[in-house]
Amino acid sequence: MAGIIIAITNQKGGVGKTTTAINLSAALAQKGKRVLLVDLDPQANSTISFIDPQEVGPSVYDWLIESDVSLRDTVRKTKLENLEVLPSRINLAKLEGKIVGELDAPFRLKDRLDPFSDNYDVVIIDTPPTLGLITVNALVASTHLIIPIQSSYFALEGTDDLLETIERIKARPNPQLEVLGVVVTLHDRRTTLSRDIYDQICQVFGDKVFETTISKSVRLEESPAYRESIFTFAPASSGAVEYASLCEEVIRRAN
Ligand code: ATP
Ligand code: MG
Repeated sequence: MAGIIIAITNQKGGVGKTTTAINLSAALAQKGKRVLLVDLDPQANSTISFIDPQEVGPSVYDWLIESDVSLRDTVRKTKLENLEVLPSRINLAKLEGKIVGELDAPFRLKDRLDPFSDNYDVVIIDTPPTLGLITVNALVASTHLIIPIQSSYFALEGTDDLLETIERIKARPNPQLEVLGVVVTLHDRRTTLSRDIYDQICQVFGDKVFETTISKSVRLEESPAYRESIFTFAPASSGAVEYASLCEEVIRRAN
């Protein structure tokens, strides 16, 4: 596993993108992979899951916009060995207005990240709940994407727009982009409805759907408030077991 860049994307809000980004990053780091978690969401939820906001200096926005802001000055270490975060702040919301219309607008992140591809085994990119220019930058820079889908009656609503965006990115700026997998989140394996929804998702995405599903778990909701991943916060919880299992599947598929 080297030079892998995985965007965690779904334009639907609250489907578990950030929860997946932070815990998959932590799981990979615990496996000895050198991981950079890029927070590309102005909400900065991934950032504050690991880092005290006071300790954020320049943000990913400053790094993308100002050529004299270096990655080294922007990236922050976490409590976890092997895991670094490229932090976001609310100023990232200005990015689209700032670069829209520029020829290289969709390529900003790719161009800035490319020189550092050897510094990390895996880069994980958390994206905002939109299909705008920020998410396009993530998809253009990535080798793979993971789509979290919330197990709910409306699970598949909006996936057409997402798939169309992926196809457009593959057609031109990034032909190598590949869906690594679809992960079903906030799942309740006990209910028939949830099992039906899982089957429906499989009908659309076939063998792209990860076997691992992520159950609803209060522990997963709580851990970011303590700036911990699920593995140190509640190592025996379902969330820890499931994200470790997802990590294994990710490593297998990415190799
Ligand atoms: P946004 O689109 O706003 O960025 P998101 O897709 O990143 O949202 P998360 O922030 O990961 O979604 O999750 C939304 C909320 O649901 C959060 O409060 C999170 O703690 C909670 N959550 C996510 N996954 C689970 C889970 N498996 N069990 C319980 N709560 C969860
Ligand atoms: Mg999020």
